[in-house]
Amino acid sequence: MSFHVNILTLFPEMFPGALGHSLSGKALDKAAWSYNAVNIRNFGDGVHKSVDDTPYGGGAGMVMRPDVIEKALLSIKKPGRKIYLSPRGKPLTQKDVQALAATPEITLLCGRYEGVDQRILDAHGFEEISVGDYVLSGGEPAALILMDACIRLLPGVMGNAQTPDEESFADGLLEYPHYTRPAHWESADGTAHDVPEILQSGDHAKIREWRRKQAEEITRLRRPDLLDK
Ligand code: SAM
Repeated sequence: MSFHVNILTLFPEMFPGALGHSLSGKALDKAAWSYNAVNIRNFGDGVHKSVDDTPYGGGAGMVMRPDVIEKALLSIKKPGRKIYLSPRGKPLTQKDVQALAATPEITLLCGRYEGVDQRILDAHGFEEISVGDYVLSGGEPAALILMDACIRLLPGVMGNAQTPDEESFADGLLEYPHYTRPAHWESADGTAHDVPEILQSGDHAKIREWRRKQAEEITRLRRPDLLDK
């Protein structure tokens, strides 16, 4: 199964961006996923290819026009699940990412300026998804984040070396801390930092138990809301 992402954007050159490198870049070369960045500007109005206008009711900034976005959307043969990246959307979770990664076709609408006219979202049933409680200058970085999270879950992308089963959020906990060589390390100020002995013991049952306790403790301290869920 492949994963195809249509992106409605004023900046198609931002794709694949960071996703053209490392795991996602290799997966793109192998056609494990594909994308089609549609330039909304090509469907703009008049000689100036206008895509936005002032908001009804007044206020600062510009709003992206529904008629222009619709033309861009209708140029996509199979849009699949339609998502508008938006700070007021449902916060993206690992569970959402798992479901999206199993969806063969999705279309991401990237807003700019003050955002898009509400009517395009209502008329075409866009879901709204947020990548966090902060405001970005455009939906493109949010789209890249959502895509990255999905692509790494596609079959064969991570390989055997990495597994999503033990990662943060997989079982409702944040991940335990990692250590590698050297076992004894002195930082630049001369302080000694040793790898916890249990991890060097070879006792896998005890290591599992230690990691579980660490994961629970970190989650309790940093994200108690995850434990409540
Ligand atoms: N006026 C909007 C508001 O206050 O909610 C913010 C608009 S923002 C400057 C421009 C675009 O960036 C939005 O239309 C959206 O597509 C994208 N964006 C900004 N923050 C985002 C977030 N946290 N998650 C997803 N998309 C975001």
